[in-house]
Amino acid sequence: MNKGKVWLVGAGPGDPSLITVKGLHCIREATVIVHDRLVNPKLIAQAPDTCQIINVGKTPNHHPVPQEQINQILIDHALAGKNVVRLKGGDPYVFGRGGEEAESLSRHKIAFEIIPGISSSIGGLAYAGIPVTHRDYSSSFHVVTGHLCQGNEPQNWHALAKTEGTLIILMGMTRQEEICKLLIEGGKSPDTPAAAVMYASQPRQKIAKGTLSTLKQEIENQKLHAPALIVIGNVVNLSEILSFASTQVDISHESLQLVEAM
Ligand code: SAH
Repeated sequence: MNKGKVWLVGAGPGDPSLITVKGLHCIREATVIVHDRLVNPKLIAQAPDTCQIINVGKTPNHHPVPQEQINQILIDHALAGKNVVRLKGGDPYVFGRGGEEAESLSRHKIAFEIIPGISSSIGGLAYAGIPVTHRDYSSSFHVVTGHLCQGNEPQNWHALAKTEGTLIILMGMTRQEEICKLLIEGGKSPDTPAAAVMYASQPRQKIAKGTLSTLKQEIENQKLHAPALIVIGNVVNLSEILSFASTQVDISHESLQLVEAM
């Protein structure tokens, strides 16, 4: 039997129309889809009726499937000759463990392809009216995880406090207060603008804005929770004038159908 292939596809930040044309094409041709929790169900609905859908983001008792097992699922289906789409939120190589999955496929000599996606860290913030760079305010941006790796502190927050660029923290909501405190300790002004953006690019998008010292309170007031992006820097101040959520147009069904002809 011929071996199948795995496409690691970035689904974008949440609005389903933000997937790439190539990503959508792969979903429509998939025989198996292995997806994460944050992937919009509307994208999964684009799969053929016969496609097997495997959710590795959450099992019935809410435990995510261990990474080793996900790697094995991809290998097994590819070896069985399937067209496997590994659908991940945002971009597959930005904190999605896509690198580990591709490594495992490569080691097992299974053909794979990466289809980049719009990362929530950039595109999601754009939907909240926040440009990650701006000539007047920020000439770099740093995307970091707020998550602890097996109890170890993965970031040197004091060093990050010294950078002038926009700081973007993914998976940081549970430790938001502590992170803001460490950044202030490291020398960032407590008055530095800071925001949290929940469900970026989706109709339920919500933003809490304040400063490093008030963000915790704002998050509580707005009842924000994960998944959310935390962004720190002067570009946050642009969010009001650059917000466009109320003027968005929906992509038409006809445009989506055009993809099939490509
Ligand atoms: N590969 C993804 C990130 C995976 S890590 C990407 O490129 O976007 C998962 C974290 O990303 C979440 O905990 C959250 O911090 C952030 N995230 C992903 N999608 C989001 C969204 N629509 N709104 C806010 N945060 C999001």
